Amino acid sequence: MAGALPLALKPHGIRMRTLLPGYPVVLQKIGQNSTKAERIGGFDNLFGHPASILAVDHHGLDILVLDAPALFDREGGPYVDKAGLDYPDNFRRFAALSLTAAEIAGGLLSDWKPDLVHVHDWQAALTPVYMRFGPASGMPTVLTIHNIAFQGQFGPMVFPELALPPEAFTVDYVEYYGDVGFLKGGLQAATAITTVSPSYAQEILTPEFGMGLEGLLTARLSGLKGIVNGIDADVWDPRTDPHIAAPYSADKMKRRAENKLALSKHFGFDAIPGPIFSVVSRLTWQKGMDVLAETIDYIVESGGKLAVLGSGDPVLENAFLDAASRHPGRVGVVMGYNEPLSHLLQAGSDAILIPSRFEPCGLTQLYGLRYGCVPVVARTGGLADTIIDANEAALAARVATGFQFSPVTADGLRLALRRVFALYNEPKAWARLQAQGMKSDVSWEKSAERYAALYSGLLVKG
Ligand code: ADP
Repeated sequence: MAGALPLALKPHGIRMRTLLPGYPVVLQKIGQNSTKAERIGGFDNLFGHPASILAVDHHGLDILVLDAPALFDREGGPYVDKAGLDYPDNFRRFAALSLTAAEIAGGLLSDWKPDLVHVHDWQAALTPVYMRFGPASGMPTVLTIHNIAFQGQFGPMVFPELALPPEAFTVDYVEYYGDVGFLKGGLQAATAITTVSPSYAQEILTPEFGMGLEGLLTARLSGLKGIVNGIDADVWDPRTDPHIAAPYSADKMKRRAENKLALSKHFGFDAIPGPIFSVVSRLTWQKGMDVLAETIDYIVESGGKLAVLGSGDPVLENAFLDAASRHPGRVGVVMGYNEPLSHLLQAGSDAILIPSRFEPCGLTQLYGLRYGCVPVVARTGGLADTIIDANEAALAARVATGFQFSPVTADGLRLALRRVFALYNEPKAWARLQAQGMKSDVSWEKSAERYAALYSGLLVKG
């Protein structure tokens, strides 16, 4: 979103500058691919360390990088070390990022300051809180929740280190059941809150999905909005995708079969007819992967094949590996993260299975639509908002784009799969479903329009 929305906002006359942490990969990329980064500001002492703010144009994106090696130059992931454990100073790292954003809003850079600040998730959520207590206290802010399961909660002992006044440690700001909640504080202080689909915006008002923040969000209902994400339509285009075996488009679907063949070879599938189902996912409870594992035998018995790409929970990884050894030639599993293979799966499989228990937006169903890979999704969050179920009315009206099911149980999924097999056996109806999906607008255009309208509204009010 941070890489796509700024470009989609340009036609609306909105210039967006994006502040990123100076992770090694960020510094490496801006070094390699961009006009040289320029130091435009910095701190002698940002939470105990010197830091620079670099500015660079990266393929049309106006990027600011917080170059603070002591905080961000690490060998593990963005949030966890090589052993998979949270960095113990995560609160300091992302307080530093948030404080930098707030300082920029307050005029830190001599020649530029924004009219509005839009921040994402708990890592940047302290920005509106810092702004409330600084020179930019009147500037509108938007906080986007990408997944409310991740809240950035820390013990009360971190509070004195955050450089916030004592009144920030109250229920109106970061105090959260005696702890410090970064996302919680941001949700209190931001002028407006968005999340990445309208259904998820409703769901997080309930105890089942709100993860403890449902009361606060209900109190802030008038400032809460759901706007669905788009996809990068250049990277995900079956006409030009370099990772697939044969290019194709909605009016040249014959060549799609070459991708199915390549995929079959890759996964060692038997050369028998029948649909290939795919999964490209974190293998976790959120994604309903335990439910999917329970339905594998049904898929195989019904004449289907299953290609899985993912990694995650070791118990689930083993369940899929087990299924592959039980069903050689029918079930194939590739563990790990493999971007090129994820493209071939969308181009070569007939349907992608997404049985998530909750899904703020979801991207793989949007890629599926674009690639004629029919999404079979749980009726939740962004999945519910982006896929039109192939029920009789929708089929008759020729608007269906996939299959939805509920509840997320093995029986629920099996019932959906029964409908999938039945329609797959009607080639004309199946082709119509694919064509309808490929016509869906999955670009950032419409969403950018909505964000532009939101910003304008806030600026007028301000
Ligand atoms: P989430 O962000 O909750 O994991 P999304 O559907 O929003 O789920 O985004 C997942 C993204 O990661 C998609 O772009 C998907 O293609 C990609 N992805 C997930 N697992 C893999 C994998 N094992 N290999 C390659 N890409 C993956």
